[in-house]
Amino acid sequence: QKAEWAKLKNEATVTKDGVAVELGANIGTPKDLVGVLDNGGEAIGLYRTEFLYMGRDEFPTEQEQTDAYAEVLQGMDGKPTVVRTLDIGGDKELSYLKLPKELNPFLGLRAIRLCLEMPDMFRTQLRALLRASVHGNLKIMFPMIATLDEFREAKALLMEEKAKLEAEGIPVSDQIEVGIMVEIPSTAVMADTFAKEVDFFSIGTNDLIQYAMAADRMNESVSYLYQPYNPAILRLVKTVIDASHKEGKWTGMCGEMAGDEIAIPILLGLGLDEFSMSASSILKARSQLSRLSKADMEGHIEHILGLSTSQEVEDYVKNL
Ligand code: PEP
Ligand code: MG
Repeated sequence: QKAEWAKLKNEATVTKDGVAVELGANIGTPKDLVGVLDNGGEAIGLYRTEFLYMGRDEFPTEQEQTDAYAEVLQGMDGKPTVVRTLDIGGDKELSYLKLPKELNPFLGLRAIRLCLEMPDMFRTQLRALLRASVHGNLKIMFPMIATLDEFREAKALLMEEKAKLEAEGIPVSDQIEVGIMVEIPSTAVMADTFAKEVDFFSIGTNDLIQYAMAADRMNESVSYLYQPYNPAILRLVKTVIDASHKEGKWTGMCGEMAGDEIAIPILLGLGLDEFSMSASSILKARSQLSRLSKADMEGHIEHILGLSTSQEVEDYVKNL
């Protein structure tokens, strides 16, 4: 099996009926690039930049960040590279950033909320991203967006920094797509509205499932509620994909679900454009997708979304 997968390393990802989808990797540091290329990643669907901020005593400088982002972009040699802006808070803390204790950190000041609260810190990251943008195919993604106002505010800061850099004579790419993670149910529900303003969506199912099911993703006692195949989750995913396509935009997924053997056929049928997963899952997923027909899977979607439970969905897909 491993040998069969290895043959797919330099192949595009194409379904049995000839439809191309993109398989990307999730990474945490430039060191992860080797694994992406070794496993035939066609893109980076999620670069979690918070690791650049962790395990040190102070914020990374604009130059340090520029270097890290440029290294990843260069390594990807023009392939799409989605960099997520800082997603700190929740379970991830920085020793040098003292924040008030919260009763519910996962519902608190995290990710884009924190970045908008600390605009100087955020602007430094945005400038670094813009400066690195000339080295490859950069797409910037904001995490934990709950409202259109948050997206507009974040994008406005980005545009301000871009204008400043240009005024300073520093080159910036004009091809940068700006998108959001869909991790909050309200955003999935409002995807049609967002789709008019964002360039792309990437569905973060790790958080989307936790918020939709009101079940802490780290709490073993409620892990039975962590149900990627629950029709409620699948309907949210469909809402997002359909809304993006209606506006000529694309949707990816960078939560664990994107590399899941049961989820993949469903996501294909729903029309997901990009699947981003741990690099070690890419070749297996490519092999699976090459044996699936998108048209066939589209024909199963109405039935699957009409099922009542996660277990029913799982059983149905296993018996296809
Ligand atoms: C997600 O929430 O699905 C996601 C990819 O982000 P993280 O796992 O870093 O929260
Ligand atoms: Mg998340």
